[in-house]
Amino acid sequence: MEKIYDVAIIGAGPAGMTAAIYAARASLSVVMIERGAPGGQMVNTFEIENYTGFEKISGPELSMKMFEHAQSAGAEYSYGNVENISVDETGVKVIDCGDHQVKAQTVIVATGTKHRLLNVPGESELSGRGISWCAVCDGAFFRGKKVVVIGGGDSAIEEAIYLAGLVEKVVVIHRRDELRAQKILQERAFADEKIEFVWDSVVEAFEDKGGKLGAVKVKNIKTGENLTIEADGAFIYIGLDPITDMIKGLEITDEAGYVVVDHAMMTPVPGVFAAGDVVSKELRQVVTAVNDGAIAAQSAFKYIETKLK
Ligand code: FAD
Ligand code: NAP
Repeated sequence: MEKIYDVAIIGAGPAGMTAAIYAARASLSVVMIERGAPGGQMVNTFEIENYTGFEKISGPELSMKMFEHAQSAGAEYSYGNVENISVDETGVKVIDCGDHQVKAQTVIVATGTKHRLLNVPGESELSGRGISWCAVCDGAFFRGKKVVVIGGGDSAIEEAIYLAGLVEKVVVIHRRDELRAQKILQERAFADEKIEFVWDSVVEAFEDKGGKLGAVKVKNIKTGENLTIEADGAFIYIGLDPITDMIKGLEITDEAGYVVVDHAMMTPVPGVFAAGDVVSKELRQVVTAVNDGAIAAQSAFKYIETKLK
């Protein structure tokens, strides 16, 4: 007989891994399906300084600690790229991973977000040839060189500070004259002599030089002035969009694509829950992702106890 899990968790970031720990400890059968490496965005984060109990911990180390914890609690881990989630006539959730299917009584969607694109000339052509979305992965290629960082949020400023430790100069290009990033990050960036700011400016194009990034064309949106900044690398941190294509058919997202849940992380579809950055909410952090994961697992447990038994 085909196995039907109590809970299938899509995504093994901090939200998914915490849901796995809570569900497995409630004696539910749990499978966590992940298409990349366990840890989600934490895997590509150099240091995390705001997760309670750890003054400073590297993203990969916290990822590994959470993964080992989930496994020791008894959650199964499975590789899969979830393409679609549907509900059959008996209420069982059918998770389509392209080459195989997984069935479960409940699903917790914890798929997080993906980086946004600027959609300007040269961006896709020079991606991986100077343009990157991950300073931790690619920063070392630019040791002693000049890079630009685009954006003014936590990611842009945190990664600009990280890059300043490796490269000769970092130029932060921001579309306003004020940063969105937390004050503590702003203060560190303003105090760093290797970091310069180009305010009120947007990137219009990336220029190729011998098959690699050579320069970034920028326009000041207040004065209309054009500027060409020579750079070997460009790191784009202009925000994130939710990964919800696999639940389009369930109609549980808002106009921006985020999943709408109630206080119990429940969606309007019975037995379908969501947790972490993919949820419509104010604060997207590791600590809020693990909070959501714990609540979603507890709600899945209650749903199975009360609705299915
Ligand atoms: P994610 O961590 O995004 O994990 C989602 C997982 O789902 C991923 O592993 C993905 O591969 C998987 N997935 C997606 N779609 C599918 C699919 N179809 N099939 C199978 N698997 C799928 N927060 C802090 O608290 N402190 C920090 O210092 C900090 N630094 C950050 C630095 C950067 C550069 C960025 C981008 C974010 C940072 N954050 C930080 C935010 C924090 O990383 C996120 O809030 C947190 O990781 C969200 O967890 P999550 O589990 O909801 O999603
Ligand atoms: P974000 O907070 O949405 O910031 C995106 C930045 O890019 C903003 O400054 C925005 O400008 C700019 N931007 C957006 N679209 C643009 C465009 N088309 N062209 C040019 N600039 C554009 O995204 P994020 O920094 O990636 O952060 C995502 C989430 O992760 C947040 O919740 C954040 O708090 C969290 N995070 C936390 C930490 C931490 O706790 N240390 C670190 C990283 C990320 P405007 O300001 O003008 O809108």
